Amino acid sequence: MTDGVWADLIGQSAAVETLRAAVAGGAHAMTHAWLITGPPGSGRSNAAKAFAAALQCPEGGCGVCSDCRSALAGSHPEVTLVRTELLSIGVDEVRDLVVRASMAPRRGRYQVLVIEDADLVTERGADALLKSIEEPAPRTVWVLCAPTADDVVVTLRSRCRHLHLRTPREADIAELLVRRDGIDPAMAAFAARAAQGHIGRARVLARDDDARRRRHDVLVLPSRLSSLGACLTAAAALISGSSDEARAATSELDARELAELSAALGIGAKGARPRSSAAAVKELEDRQKTRVKRLQRDALDRVLTEFTAYYRDVLTVQTGAGAELVNPEVRAEILAAARACSPVDTVRRLDAILACRVALAGNVAPLLAMESLLISLADLG
Ligand SMILES: [Zn+2]
Repeated sequence: MTDGVWADLIGQSAAVETLRAAVAGGAHAMTHAWLITGPPGSGRSNAAKAFAAALQCPEGGCGVCSDCRSALAGSHPEVTLVRTELLSIGVDEVRDLVVRASMAPRRGRYQVLVIEDADLVTERGADALLKSIEEPAPRTVWVLCAPTADDVVVTLRSRCRHLHLRTPREADIAELLVRRDGIDPAMAAFAARAAQGHIGRARVLARDDDARRRRHDVLVLPSRLSSLGACLTAAAALISGSSDEARAATSELDARELAELSAALGIGAKGARPRSSAAAVKELEDRQKTRVKRLQRDALDRVLTEFTAYYRDVLTVQTGAGAELVNPEVRAEILAAARACSPVDTVRRLDAILACRVALAGNVAPLLAMESLLISLADLG
């Protein structure tokens, strides 16, 4: 299949059509601010990158020229990709972008700025962004990405052209994993089903034994919550597991960042740190702590997603809906759970998972939220 930069945007023909037409329409007809929304894993940031590449490409997105390749790889000098690992994008970061947005493209055809987590832009950040989006330089294009329009500060989203991506189909994800990543077809089919429409998660599950093992451990957990003690132990294990996962993902990066900062500050072997260096190091360490926290929250969120899929399967069995199970590998556990309670009980458990998600997004301590959830799932009361 050769479809230039659009080839990997599976199941999004309507959105691709719109973006293609915008590129073909040229600079005089260009919309300068876009908001691409879609469920996690539907390919928002890939769609934004493909659009950026097509805007820079002399052929409108051939996929093979140096403009296309560098834009897709994130190294094009006039495509700025903003992806934060932090919990918010504040006014300082936004000001840097606004300066860049005001520069006329010298090498490329446009100055493209992609904010992958536009839902994390703060109110003050949005204020700083507003003028640049309302009165953009003639060849500047902003592309904001977020799960839904409601997640973006209202003053921002009302000034963007909105494009929504759909949840990709399982078969399309499996096909992509085989074609793009060279995954074995049986593994691709399993991963696509288990990931429930999340392309990135499917890729991880297809390639990472540890991720598959962790997922399986989560799926068998509900059937083992036989006592209060078991719930508390399991909650503690989930929290420490998510913390280990987050640290494993960041420890190398943390060390490298600290080494780079130390070198930049001229902190020598003697370890003498002027006062301002100490402040810079402290700032970096705070940022790294926030990043670990965000990754841990993401890992716990995946746990909740697996629990939800598990209880949906239980409900499928209980209501005789006849749909295929998302998790046939734990069919025995699902059948036993379906026999042991009523559909109303299952819906109540699904509600408890939702409540836990809300609690984690707020400021409830993760361990307390998870203990409370597992006790509800076990129904010890
Ligand atoms: Zn090209």
